[in-house]
Amino acid sequence: MALGFLLDLSRCTGCRACETACRYEHGGVLAFRRVQRVERQVAGTLQLCFLSLACNHCEHPECFRVCPQRAYSKRRDGVVLHSPGRCNGCNTCIRACPFQAPRYNPLTGKTGKCDLCVHRLDAGLSPACIEACPVKALHLLDLRAEREGVWQRWVYGLSDVSLTRPSLRFKINPAGRRYFARRPGGLREDKGEGRRRRADAG
Ligand code: SF4
Ligand code: SF4
Repeated sequence: MALGFLLDLSRCTGCRACETACRYEHGGVLAFRRVQRVERQVAGTLQLCFLSLACNHCEHPECFRVCPQRAYSKRRDGVVLHSPGRCNGCNTCIRACPFQAPRYNPLTGKTGKCDLCVHRLDAGLSPACIEACPVKALHLLDLRAEREGVWQRWVYGLSDVSLTRPSLRFKINPAGRRYFARRPGGLREDKGEGRRRRADAG
């Protein structure tokens, strides 16, 4: 197995339920998943989407490579783990990770990161963020089942993926619509999606 996350950009609404679930699953102090709002201007229209990101359990994890305490390990199923018992809080891994996925906990003086909820996985459950998402935008992915060209490896707003090769993929809908657009009168989904919804309703 090579486990990772799939994020469906056409579904995520930026509600942050995944962040909250992550925080409470990991002690209630830090959320290892964070939702970023990404905006850009395209042909005079402000477009935005939400990137719900955590550790990407990379193929070539820089955290693993640089940690002087050898606090990182990678399981056979691809999950990159961090051992708080070895960590001395030097934050070398935070500086090295292109996604700044590890986070420093000032209460413990140690760094932590998403462990893909291995305690839940090993009990046959989904990670807490996936379970909490009300619109099913997040999915667990086995990259061995990847169909080339179906999922995207990079989207606007994400750091460079060439160094660590994240186990993260993005799904966009077949028409390529993945952003919400702000127009006069408020924030709406883009035209194509709006047309489809009106057709569904009528
Ligand atoms: S996202 Fe960062 S912390 Fe996670 S495996 Fe990749 S390099 Fe390590
Ligand atoms: S819970 Fe789902 S819809 Fe809400 S921010 Fe997270 S991924 Fe997006």
